[in-house]
Amino acid sequence: MDLFELTNKLMSIPSVSGDEEAVGVWLRDHLRSLGWTVELQPVSENQSNIIAYLNDTPRFWLSTHMDTVPPFIAPTEDDERIYGRGSCDAKGIIAAQITAAELLRGEGITDIGLLYTVEEERSSEGARTANDHPLADKCEYMINGEPTDNRLAIGSKGSFRLKIKTTGKAAHSAYPEEGDSAIEKLLDILEDVRRTRFPSDEFFGETTVNIGVIEGGVALNVIPPTAEASLLIRLTTPRSVIEDALRNVVRNRGEIEVLSCSEPVRMLAVDGFDQKVVRFTTDIPYLTNWGQPLLLGPGSILVAHKKDEFVLKKDLEIAVDHYVRLAKDLLNT
Ligand SMILES: [Zn+2]
Repeated sequence: MDLFELTNKLMSIPSVSGDEEAVGVWLRDHLRSLGWTVELQPVSENQSNIIAYLNDTPRFWLSTHMDTVPPFIAPTEDDERIYGRGSCDAKGIIAAQITAAELLRGEGITDIGLLYTVEEERSSEGARTANDHPLADKCEYMINGEPTDNRLAIGSKGSFRLKIKTTGKAAHSAYPEEGDSAIEKLLDILEDVRRTRFPSDEFFGETTVNIGVIEGGVALNVIPPTAEASLLIRLTTPRSVIEDALRNVVRNRGEIEVLSCSEPVRMLAVDGFDQKVVRFTTDIPYLTNWGQPLLLGPGSILVAHKKDEFVLKKDLEIAVDHYVRLAKDLLNT
């Protein structure tokens, strides 16, 4: 099965987060048929990571995720591109990594492992589970694949998810002096958040804030007793710096509830590759036991998660070449 057939095959098996088992089982069988030792590592009921290796203690690993965002979009292709869900995020990457690993094996290099996780798009639960795997200890370099336009990402921003909650007092809307509007308090806080210049970082770039969801109130004729906003902040500094700044903005007008956080990460730079800092988060912050992280993959993050997601066939081939070169450079062969 060649690179493009493998990409198409993986894409044709739906694997929206939570529903990765079928693609995992197919990958297990495929890799076993090629001669790999393959484990299904249970993450939760009907969710398992794939861990495959050629020798007992590989130092070099290639990794990405098997899940996709919804909805499933079946693959189509023309001469230049493969379209559909997972083409660049991240089934084309799985295909490029397996193709690279097989080329390396053909040259007698067997110090290679493959890790394919579940749940990257929602919680990185697969990566958290993989972090406890005994083979992590022996890993020296892990190249994570996400769409970086085939450039080596030397840094990725962190992500900080939180809610700001306000409370007031319900009253008849004709007698506002009897109540206290939680929505107006929330709007005031959010206006201040929007005006705030959060600290940025020379290496990672600008800290950005998305107010993604606002909820509150009960009816048109009731002064709203509760309201909340969900924010996702792309971190370029440690979370504590931003959290302190945010608490200074919110003060006692509302409450901050932290939902999750991954800190910004610096990754290994290798000579001879174009480099960049990416704004998105990956499984890497949760794979801390797996050696030095690197991040590179074909395709653009700007088309990932969209209905017209695609990858250039040429970029898949270039990615194979990059993975082979990185393996040889890092393993010093
Ligand atoms: Zn991805």
